[in-house]
Amino acid sequence: MPSTDLSTRIMLLQGDITRQHVSAIVNAANSSLLGGGGVDGAIHRAGGPAILEECRLIRASPDYRNGLPAGQAVITAGGKLPAAHVIHTVGPVWNGGHHGEPALLASCYRNSLRLAAEHRLTSLAFPGISTGIYGYPKPEAAKIAVREVRRFLAEHEYPETVVFVAFDDASRRLYEQELSR
Ligand code: ADP
Repeated sequence: MPSTDLSTRIMLLQGDITRQHVSAIVNAANSSLLGGGGVDGAIHRAGGPAILEECRLIRASPDYRNGLPAGQAVITAGGKLPAAHVIHTVGPVWNGGHHGEPALLASCYRNSLRLAAEHRLTSLAFPGISTGIYGYPKPEAAKIAVREVRRFLAEHEYPETVVFVAFDDASRRLYEQELSR
């Protein structure tokens, strides 16, 4: 079991996830894996066409013919990004909260962390999955994000560090609150 104090392995910063120099950034993708708006659009714009090419190859495999289901994650290279890899995960669309959204969002974090661990990636940055176009309430989403990352890191050596990247002031404050608990 990793003995390191968890607080030294979890960081919070505010800004653009596409600028982060980490082993991998997580993309809040949609199930097509072929790009979209929000952070997905920003990652493909900054990373260039190599990421989309790799996503197309993933879609061509029998497992993902119908797209990547919500809660799951896949990994590609980072193209022109400062991050070496992108872990693409599909968050749940918020539909009132009683349609499995919390469990699916928790799966996004867990499966992304699991991929990072399998690839022995040292640092991983997360955006607020589902908290944009998909409409997940930010306070509840931050709670799940922090809970899942803490649980995973307590039991795994990799990733060594996780960075929560808040895009706006309100999100940053929510993470601060959760991390101070
Ligand atoms: P989803 O469809 O999963 O809701 P979005 O991309 O619409 O995904 O939004 C997810 C979160 O990412 C939102 O909180 C949004 O403010 C944030 N976001 C958008 N662009 C960036 C970026 N460049 N870096 C970090 N976070 C971003």
